[in-house]
Amino acid sequence: MSRSLNLAVIPGDGIGQEVVAQGLKVLSAVLPQDVKLETKEYDLGAKRWHRTGETLPDAELDSLREHDAILLGAIGDPSVPSGVLERGLLLKLRFAFDHYVNLRPSKLFPNTATPLAGRPEIDFVVVREGTEGPYTGNGGSLRTGTPAEVATEVSVNTAYGVERVVRDAFARADARPRKKLTLVHKNNVLVYAGHMWKKIFDQVAREYPAVTTDYLHVDAATIFFVTQPERFDVIVTDNLFGDILTDLAAAVTGGIGLAASGNINPTGEFPSMFEPVHGSAPDIAGTGKADPTATVLSVALLLRHLGHEAEAVRIEDAVAADLADRDGTPRTTDEIGDALAVRVAG
Ligand code: ATP
Ligand code: MG
Repeated sequence: MSRSLNLAVIPGDGIGQEVVAQGLKVLSAVLPQDVKLETKEYDLGAKRWHRTGETLPDAELDSLREHDAILLGAIGDPSVPSGVLERGLLLKLRFAFDHYVNLRPSKLFPNTATPLAGRPEIDFVVVREGTEGPYTGNGGSLRTGTPAEVATEVSVNTAYGVERVVRDAFARADARPRKKLTLVHKNNVLVYAGHMWKKIFDQVAREYPAVTTDYLHVDAATIFFVTQPERFDVIVTDNLFGDILTDLAAAVTGGIGLAASGNINPTGEFPSMFEPVHGSAPDIAGTGKADPTATVLSVALLLRHLGHEAEAVRIEDAVAADLADRDGTPRTTDEIGDALAVRVAG
């Protein structure tokens, strides 16, 4: 464990700025005195693009690389054409830093509202593949703009890419008390990619005899997320299925204000990036209504990734206690951040 933490911060757009400020507040409060925290802020996102036309210049990419980790608020604004910041900034970062594990824990905290009947126990982690599938930009459009237009979006799956994320998921499952791993795909229809995922999954499974394995088609998985979420422990799935499943997971565990995520390069060759699952929420930006909890929980994932396990647990316990005490009285973004900072320090 390192005695210094050199953090790159991308507050981004809308409520991104507001929630990141609270994440940093809680981080400063939880770190032991002898860990030196250094932060460098990067002006990236919609405002920068409007001002300069730039999304993520290579010089800044190189500078980001020099950090132990990256904390991101949210990127995006309706004034920027769809895809510009997603491809030019978020996906560029993910590919450049080889964030092949997208980690999204889902936990239903006590006293948190869920649309599910009977308050099931929900405590699972989705390991979403981050660099392949339909997100590689492979495809094209033929006869564009004519009635005969054809668009393709190719899903890329390499044995290398699948094996490394499946291995990561097995290791995570093996380290958890229930030791259960579910592969989610659609191998009855997407037979080429689906069979390769299943074959590799079964091969790696032999090295983890203690881990119970399971396979579900993605459509069945969406049903079980709602009817029987307690059956899941760790889930490994492809980039697109993981994107959709994790929003559903956020919805059943108290909403987008609580959902944290990590874009992880498990080898440590490049910095990993941690961010709330939600977007920039322009509809509530500047009102103080944004819940910073998802960002604070993302800071816990960041600390755990860097080996600061005790501090990560302190943050998660503080969030659980804060949620348990909520009685419906509205609090501002800042007030929630202050309360969490006091709890982790105390
Ligand atoms: P993106 O395309 O960037 O994912 P989005 O259009 O999916 O963005 P979000 O920005 O995530 O949308 O917001 C979706 C809804 O959830 C909005 O109504 C927003 O106000 C609400 N919301 C998002 N984040 C929070 C938060 N931290 N606290 C409270 N409400 C939030
Ligand atoms: Mg969204």
